Amino acid sequence: MHKRRGDEPGVLASEPALRVIMRRLREIMAAPDEGQQRLDRIVRQIAGVMVAEVCSIYLKRRDGSLELYASEGLKTEAVHKTRLNRNEGLVGRCAEQAKPINEPDAQSHPAFSYRPETGEEAYHSMLAVPVLRAGTVVGVLVVQNHTRREYAEEDVEVLQATAMVMAELLASGGVAGSEAEIELTRAASAVIAGQALAEGIALGHAVLHEPRIVVTTLLSEDPALEFTRLENALQGLRASVDDMLSHERLSGAGEHRDVLEAYRMFANDRGWHHRLRGAVQDGLTAEAAVERVQNSTRARMLRQIDPFWAERVRDLDDLSDRLLRILAGRANDHGHRENLPDDTILIARTMGPAELLDYDRTKLRGLVVEDGSCQSHVAIVAKALGIAAIGQAHRIVEHVADGDAVIVDSETGEVHLRPSGDVIAAFQDKVRFRARRQEHYRELRDLPGVTRDGTRIDLLLNAGMLVDLPHLEESGAEGIGLFRTELQFMLSDRLPRLDRQTEAYKAVLDQAGGAPVCFRTLDIGGDKMLPYLHRVPEENPAMGWRALRMSLDRPGLFRTQIRALLRAHDGRPMSLMVPMLTTASEMDRVRKLIGMELEHAGRHGHALPASLSLGAMLEVPSLLFELDRVLPKTDFLSVGSNDLLQFLFAADRSSAQVSGRYDALSHAPLRALRTVFEAADRHSVPVTVCGETAGIPLTAMALIALGCRRLSMAASRIGPVKAMVRTLDLGELCDRLHGWVDDPDCDIRAKLLGFAKDHDVEV
Ligand code: PEP
Ligand code: MG
Repeated sequence: MHKRRGDEPGVLASEPALRVIMRRLREIMAAPDEGQQRLDRIVRQIAGVMVAEVCSIYLKRRDGSLELYASEGLKTEAVHKTRLNRNEGLVGRCAEQAKPINEPDAQSHPAFSYRPETGEEAYHSMLAVPVLRAGTVVGVLVVQNHTRREYAEEDVEVLQATAMVMAELLASGGVAGSEAEIELTRAASAVIAGQALAEGIALGHAVLHEPRIVVTTLLSEDPALEFTRLENALQGLRASVDDMLSHERLSGAGEHRDVLEAYRMFANDRGWHHRLRGAVQDGLTAEAAVERVQNSTRARMLRQIDPFWAERVRDLDDLSDRLLRILAGRANDHGHRENLPDDTILIARTMGPAELLDYDRTKLRGLVVEDGSCQSHVAIVAKALGIAAIGQAHRIVEHVADGDAVIVDSETGEVHLRPSGDVIAAFQDKVRFRARRQEHYRELRDLPGVTRDGTRIDLLLNAGMLVDLPHLEESGAEGIGLFRTELQFMLSDRLPRLDRQTEAYKAVLDQAGGAPVCFRTLDIGGDKMLPYLHRVPEENPAMGWRALRMSLDRPGLFRTQIRALLRAHDGRPMSLMVPMLTTASEMDRVRKLIGMELEHAGRHGHALPASLSLGAMLEVPSLLFELDRVLPKTDFLSVGSNDLLQFLFAADRSSAQVSGRYDALSHAPLRALRTVFEAADRHSVPVTVCGETAGIPLTAMALIALGCRRLSMAASRIGPVKAMVRTLDLGELCDRLHGWVDDPDCDIRAKLLGFAKDHDVEV
């Protein structure tokens, strides 16, 4: 294939094809030609260097068709006459799939579209590559040969790199008339199915959490300089990956660590570095080299059947994107925080709760991530922020560009990308319908949470930030049943000092205006990391040094928080609970530390709380077998069902593969909870359930029937749960539920649903 190149004047036989093309393209760009002339010269040069009988360029028009814009080898009269409809022929298919097509015998391919005016019947083999700009197909570059042959990988790479330059030429207006006629449209509409993380329907515009850098300068003026830039960026990349691993910023799931380890392998891969350097030597800028190697390696990997390689494509994409951000000096630029659109839908591969909190919440409407599960902390934060969120949106980052219109529908778990006008109109209707339902819930706001047969159920709010406080009034909740104090720590870039903590807690109490607030002491660990707190790396951080364990080992940290809480309460009644209590005896240690702080407050003349109610969270199954010991030591119990279910079923709450696998409405958890309510009743200790289960009407219905009288949940869940409570005949359900729980063969969920349907309970 390269034989003829050596025969041409001025071309060394050994010189790589791409370098020759780049040199030629530079010469063409420098000449004072008009656009069409330039295109004609370009296709002639490509045909020459690639030893192809035909080289053609098709450009996309506004109606989606592809017009033959220039050709070396096809009949001249076909140029600007031949138009292929969307998806027509192999060229149309290449544009539609945005992937190269390499056919040894194009004419016998079922998708081949014969156009007599082109005279292409003489050519058998065809290589077509998309001309892509910022992820959008703007045309197709094609070479054809008489012989039946499959083009070599190197040919595909050369043509792809040439297509990149073509895209640049088109965008810069280097082809006369093209801007007016050629459509630079984005890919078509698409629907990606995921899993709801936080309820709601949101219409807005995509903001990529880690935006892709659009490469605009492709040809380098100074290869030595580009070489240095590339080397520096690679060094930066390796350092950043090492840094991530050592900080375990993405820990909380073993999967993330594996991904990072794979990154590290890739970031240090010699073959990759070699190809990047080669591309710079060929005359590309460092950025263009990254993009070119990404495209060609990607194409090679996607041809592999083994799914392992499909996954590695993600690593490659991620690393390439990171490298581009480093080259652009935007390595730490997470999103456009300064100028977010007012209807931002954040799109990310993965996001931690602290990262989400970094964004201006007034601009956020939705969140879509590729991982995540509904009990993960990022989901909890999304709920607290009141934004619709979807997880498990497979490879969504690859399919979205900044600014794309997006609809997030948590009711179906679907994400609509670039929806048509009809779809948008249908969703606007859906939003109006939801608004009416919300109106119904608002009407319930001031009514008590009492069942039809007169049992009072306290409905409380889960909160974690000052901005949650207005929800208290809006939702009609009776107080805050869980205030997650760690969010303030996560938002801060260093450990908040005593006065900062005091201020924060005081502000919460002041805004609550006398409604009870139950503060939970620090629950750090698992997926809630503090970058400034040194931790020893752990294989299973959710079961590691977290929550109360950390507080007991670092009494200084714990006591400072208690001191801040005592000062903030300033004589007001105080309610406090500790997360992840594992043994009854830990409660004694908690009481002792709190006792010291009470004594310290008294000694320093601070007002002591009018009353102090001290509770424990039941999240670790061991406590289930120590209830009679622990209950006398606590003033109340709060069931953290997210963690309790995670540990009961040994199913990571942040892993969608396993977190949804076991049913909260099945025998094991319901029997466990029944034991808790019965024991608490014996000891006259009130119990609250504050995990996500409390906010799901059907599950809440079962909890109430088992004896629960206090439920704490996200603000948006108060209305639906109150509607359920007020339509429930509790006495009738109680007897039945106990029977179902005792019957090992019963499908409890189905029975509960049937009950709700037969008795018109709003679930
Ligand atoms: C729980 O585990 O159910 C809980 C409420 O605590 P968190 O979700 O903050 O771990
Ligand atoms: Mg918990």
